[in-house]
Amino acid sequence: MTYNHAQHLTTPNGTVRCPACTTVGATLRCDCGAYVIALGRKDKVLTQNVERKINHYTRAAIVKTWRDAAHVLCKAAKIPAIPAIIVYVEYCPTNSIRRDAGNIYPTAKAIVDGIVDAGIIPDDDWHHCDGPRMSIGPIMRPANVTLAIIPAVMA
Ligand SMILES: [Zn+2]
Repeated sequence: MTYNHAQHLTTPNGTVRCPACTTVGATLRCDCGAYVIALGRKDKVLTQNVERKINHYTRAAIVKTWRDAAHVLCKAAKIPAIPAIIVYVEYCPTNSIRRDAGNIYPTAKAIVDGIVDAGIIPDDDWHHCDGPRMSIGPIMRPANVTLAIIPAVMA
C-alpha cells in the first residue's frame, strides 16, 4: 500500500491519536488494526446544537463537505472493501467547553456516508457498520476530526 504520510497524518500538532485505541502517532494502519485518517477541520463541526441555528441549505453544504472529505481521503488511502467495520469518530475541539460526544452525530453520520461512497462497505446498516462510536479528544488548535475504521466480524 502506498501511503502519503503528509497528506493524511499531519494535524496541527503533528500527531494523530487513533480513536479506536488512543495510540498517539498512529500511522494509517494502527497497531490495533484500525485505518486512521485525520480529516482536519473541513468545515464547522456539525452538532445537534449547531443544526438548530442554521438553515437547511447551510446544513446540507456542511454535511456534503464532511462526506466528500471522508470519501476522498478513504479513496486516497486505498482502504480496501471490508465486509463489516467499526467506525470511530473523534472530535478534538479548540477549547474545554463542556461537550457530549453524541452531539457530533450529524458530522459522524456524514463521515460514515463518505465511507460508503468510497466503497469500503456497501451500506451503513447494522450488518456492515457498528457505530459511529463518537468521542471528544484532546484540545487542538485548529480543531481536528479523526476517523478510525476497524475491520469487524459481525453476526
Ligand atoms: Zn489504534
